[in-house]
Amino acid sequence: MRVLILGGTTEARQLAERLAMRADLAVTLSLAGRTAAPALPPVPVRIGGFGGAQGLADYLLDEKIDVLIDATHPYAATISMNAAVAAPLARVALLALRRPGWAPIAGDRWVEVGDVAGAVRALGNVPRRAFLALGRKEIEPFADAPQHSYLVRSVEPVTPPLMVPHAVYITARGPFAEADERTMLEEHRIDIIVAKNSGGPATYGKIAAARALSLPVILLRRPLPPPYPPPQAGEGIRRIPPPLAGEGRVGAAVETVDDAVAWLDHVSAPPTARGV
Ligand code: NAP
Repeated sequence: MRVLILGGTTEARQLAERLAMRADLAVTLSLAGRTAAPALPPVPVRIGGFGGAQGLADYLLDEKIDVLIDATHPYAATISMNAAVAAPLARVALLALRRPGWAPIAGDRWVEVGDVAGAVRALGNVPRRAFLALGRKEIEPFADAPQHSYLVRSVEPVTPPLMVPHAVYITARGPFAEADERTMLEEHRIDIIVAKNSGGPATYGKIAAARALSLPVILLRRPLPPPYPPPQAGEGIRRIPPPLAGEGRVGAAVETVDDAVAWLDHVSAPPTARGV
């Protein structure tokens, strides 16, 4: 069975690593090409956009893909929507692997906003010392609020730099430990954080550190994902109706690499084993 994983996340890489040795699967990982030296699993990797939903559908047909797994970042809404459109067009089965977002707990001081412009507004007029944990493409609107001092951390360098008088840049790739995040926030005398609700443990350190230091966090709300049916409460992953390769039925959304592997085991099993 031929599997295309739309990646750019730790989970996509982990899934590709888990599937790499399977003789029954030919797995390709697709990356947007946002980072210069991404960590790569031992499977064929293709890099760059497909040219919209139709381009992705054409690729799925040309490469005779049976199963498409959307394991992209929760904020990468365009490619997820393209996958939801392209899979039925190309009649391939589709699974979304989406890590759950973080939920606030006692001590968290979160302000949720709809987009980056909302985050800029939420910083207010009074000068703040803000830590921006955002993608480099999301930084630009903060130039409209030059009264604040910024500490900007991104995987790739921010070029051109923000047109503001006070900005410090760090390039780093997670995971980030809570203790290190706390030290960084204290060293830079940060009084507010702006971040995405990425979910997962790798970037949670700053959220935990903010709680420990009683700092407010402006969180960008997640974009709405395409409406795949989630697994029914109380049902195991194996009871999800199998979106069989060739039928082009949209599949399901799962939250863990283990569940994605279980789903693949199910759809790749012979029909009799699937109870079909
Ligand atoms: P996007 O807005 O969903 O995607 C924009 C375009 O990039 C897509 O239409 C597609 O181009 C191409 N693309 C995206 N993911 C791809 C993949 N896995 N393989 C091939 N092409 C892909 O996503 P984004 O612009 O990358 O990022 C949006 C948000 O997600 C930002 O907040 C960013 O920080 C976050 N994020 C993204 C990634 C990532 O790897 N993409 C990783 C971490 C965080 P075509 O239409 O031409 O096919």
